[in-house]
Amino acid sequence: MDRRDFLKALSAGGAAAPTLLASTTENAKAATPINVVIVGGGMAGATAAKYLRYWGAKLKMDVRVTLVDKNAKYVSCILSNGVLTGERTLGSLTFGYDKLVTNYGANGALRFIASEVTKIDTTAKTVSLANGQTLGYTRLILAPGIDFDYSSIAISWADPTMTMQKALDALPHAWKAGPQTTVLQQQLAGMTNGNRLVLTIPRAPYRCPPGPYERACVIADWMKLKKPASKVIILDANPKIMAEPVNFGKAFAGIHKNYIEYYPNMQLQSVYIASAKSKTVTVSDTTDPANPVTRTVGAEVVNLIPPMMAGQVARNALANGGLTADKRWALIDERSYESSAFPGVHIIGDSISSKQPKAGHVGNQEAKVCADAILRLESGLKPFDAPVTNSACFTPITIQGPISAIPRCRSPRSSSAWTTCSTRSRIATT
Ligand SMILES: Cc1cc2nc3c(=O)[nH]c(=O)nc-3n(C[C@H](O)[C@H](O)[C@H](O)COP(=O)(O)OP(=O)(O)OC[C@H]3O[C@@H](n4cnc5c(N)ncnc54)[C@H](O)[C@@H]3O)c2cc1C
Repeated sequence: MDRRDFLKALSAGGAAAPTLLASTTENAKAATPINVVIVGGGMAGATAAKYLRYWGAKLKMDVRVTLVDKNAKYVSCILSNGVLTGERTLGSLTFGYDKLVTNYGANGALRFIASEVTKIDTTAKTVSLANGQTLGYTRLILAPGIDFDYSSIAISWADPTMTMQKALDALPHAWKAGPQTTVLQQQLAGMTNGNRLVLTIPRAPYRCPPGPYERACVIADWMKLKKPASKVIILDANPKIMAEPVNFGKAFAGIHKNYIEYYPNMQLQSVYIASAKSKTVTVSDTTDPANPVTRTVGAEVVNLIPPMMAGQVARNALANGGLTADKRWALIDERSYESSAFPGVHIIGDSISSKQPKAGHVGNQEAKVCADAILRLESGLKPFDAPVTNSACFTPITIQGPISAIPRCRSPRSSSAWTTCSTRSRIATT
């Protein structure tokens, strides 16, 4: 792509056809180094690192990026449901940062540091790391993903040697791919044929709207072969299936009807661990909100997916005016992903408050819009006014048949709900 093509891309706009700057090389501001620190090397943060360097170099801007993640290797949640059923290994979903640094870090202009960010000073524009380093920045990108909030769930146990940490490990969310994915896989493998798995879904917004329903389907599919007398009980805090309701509704009522029971409006209240093989889940059934009913379900395995909020480092940094009223999500301008309250601080990925779904594909697009906006802002221009992001969702329903795929798209500036822009949906039928 030559300079003329870049200028064309600028007028086209959108994250899918990334926009670039017009006359940055002539701009005096662009001549000084732009130091960007990115906190979190996941789907969103790593993409921002790449595109700041890639587009910055094309535009002859001196952009220096420091990407910081508390882990030296990244484990992808995408496809991790396949680990539960033995179709995948966690190793196949684990990635390092060497290639990113080699391909986009000429002369040390992109470096990766494996350390936890412990403190951010938005006045001094510094980031403190657990390894003792302090990094200064021109602009900061926060992409720490999500944290879990167990505060509304009472968890208790019979075993006097149990601790809260052990109890949480015994009730794995497996919603950050890693050790908990392995725990849930082992619990499934060891499950008594005929016993139940309870899967709880928190109120939206949560990471990966179709993910819990997809998980129920792949586990049900696996049960047919490995634990044919067992069942998945879905206790959904939401009033309905939150993504692809037609596909999942058909799957629950059709191909998986003997293996999945789906219950909406079930607010999780407590879990009691009688033993490793016996747990009791209590919910408030709010189908009639005026008359909530307490219900209990026994299960051998409980996949407890708790309510979510932005990663702690973002909540700490933005606490003074940069968060939603419930203090869970970062408030940003979707043209630049810059904080509404902290100029120079951008937030991307699952941590933000947005009508866009919390998905890796969307985080990737947000990162590109953000990188484009930073290059523009540092050149004295305004961010592109109408960026468009989109999300494609590939949802396995059964390995015995095809998969469904529903790409969705919307403009972040539109107030309407997500709409299906094209459908290539296929669902297996028995
Ligand atoms: C089962 C499952 C299936 C999914 N399937 C899909 C799918 O098919 N398609 C799709 O698009 N999305 C999917 N998703 C969602 C997707 O994984 C997330 O939306 C995506 O990972 C969000 O990207 P992120 O960069 O915001 O956060 P993450 O990818 O979680 O990255 C955050 C990074 O920040 C780091 N970090 C956090 N705090 C600090 C700190 N203080 N210091 C340093 N580093 C820190 C973490 O170590 C982590 O590496 C799925 C999710 C799940 C759970």
